[in-house]
Amino acid sequence: MTGKKSYHMSPEEFRRHGREVIDWIADYHENVERHPVLSRVEPGEIGDSVGTKVPARGEAFTEILQDATERILPGITHWQSPGFHAYFPSNSSGPAILGELLAAGLGVQGMLWSTSPACTEVETRVLDMLADLLGLPEAYRSTGSGGGVIQDSASSAVLCALIAARERDSRLRTNRQGCDGSHVAYCSTQAHSSLEKAMGIAGLGRANLRQIAVDDQFALDAAALAAQIKADKAAGLRPMFACATLGTTSSNAIDPIAAMGRICREEGLWLHVDAAMSGTAAICPEYRHLHEGVEYADSYCFNPHKWMFTNFDCSCFWVADRTALIGALSILPEYLVNDATTSGAVFDYRDWQLPLGRRFRALKLWFVLRYYGVEGLRHHVRRHIELAQRLVGWIEADRHFEMVAPAPFNLVCFRHRGSDELNERIMRELNTGGEIFLTHTRLNDRFALRLCVGQSHTEAEHVEKAWKLIVRAAKRLRDRQPRGRPPGR
Ligand code: PLP
Repeated sequence: MTGKKSYHMSPEEFRRHGREVIDWIADYHENVERHPVLSRVEPGEIGDSVGTKVPARGEAFTEILQDATERILPGITHWQSPGFHAYFPSNSSGPAILGELLAAGLGVQGMLWSTSPACTEVETRVLDMLADLLGLPEAYRSTGSGGGVIQDSASSAVLCALIAARERDSRLRTNRQGCDGSHVAYCSTQAHSSLEKAMGIAGLGRANLRQIAVDDQFALDAAALAAQIKADKAAGLRPMFACATLGTTSSNAIDPIAAMGRICREEGLWLHVDAAMSGTAAICPEYRHLHEGVEYADSYCFNPHKWMFTNFDCSCFWVADRTALIGALSILPEYLVNDATTSGAVFDYRDWQLPLGRRFRALKLWFVLRYYGVEGLRHHVRRHIELAQRLVGWIEADRHFEMVAPAPFNLVCFRHRGSDELNERIMRELNTGGEIFLTHTRLNDRFALRLCVGQSHTEAEHVEKAWKLIVRAAKRLRDRQPRGRPPGR
């Protein structure tokens, strides 16, 4: 330094503290099982410990890191714990974290190809490779009519798909009516709430989302979809969009995409496939049947940030024909005009997403794909599915428990025979115990426990422990129930 004051961290300090942070993360992962999986703090507790004012003078980095340990960790629910079985996984891995760090170090803003060609071109290539790995249709490749892009979430992806569908629909119509309240979209009663939210955001109206009945496996009833589309058309409405879910949030139900796709083709609807968690299974050839009928889909999304060892956020979204998506989202103010864009030879990913700015998310995904390779990814996905299926076997063999939905992959929905209240108490007792964390859903209007096997380091011993804890908690609660009391609903 030449006598001028600077508040920045010097490269030497960065090296030193960077090593401390990497050690911190490695220690955290090594010891994550020592923490209660579900945070035990009360509302406001962490906020209070953080204080209320920006410090007048900068503080030493070591102190800041120390506070992360003492003040922040208690308020963490440990998604990376192998005992985390709640909701859906949000797993991560060493290569993903390091890729993320590199992206932060480069600090690239990749809104345009020209603002960092690598940011765009790596993303395009990685999504092409992934399309191959998942067995997605040829059209989804950047070399074909479509292409892929990384979104922050499956929620943004479905909103982009909806907006693209509206664009295509209005182009197909000579009178080019805008959003007049007559567009209708379809999904099953089990689809993720992000579609309903997207309908509202897009100005299409939440009430214009038809939630179609499901069969006894919680998958959309294609005949009911066809009948509803016909009824809506007869009423003068404009059916425009349908969403098929491969692996519903509640119970991992698989909608019949081939049947839905044929209906959508015939009736002129855009078909979006939401495979947020379960799409990952298709990287294994034996689970590729999941994608039967995907050739009918206009768009497809799955989240490596759920179950492909890539830390949040990383949601992959493909379209079969990129013109509608770009047509809907492209806007070129003078200050962004540049030769590459004008040449038409490049993708500018700001045209494929809602915000303008974007970071180099593809780097972490590229690191993951290269580090694990096809073999490593398949190994861990198979292992998770195998462990979940072992759990299914134990549930089926125990007279006190019952399965409440098919478990095609890594999510197991089950319940203790008897009342909802008993099941709720089992769940609460398990979650306050701190060794595992699982959540619930309602299926056929009954409370059901959901146990998902998808954390990067969840192994046989963890699933065995989870089952033992469940059985033990259930026995304890049964023993406490007054004798002779009927099991109830
Ligand atoms: N779709 C499905 C089937 C999901 O399970 C989820 C999350 O649970 C989502 C969409 C929303 O995902 P995101 O958080 O990436 O928006």
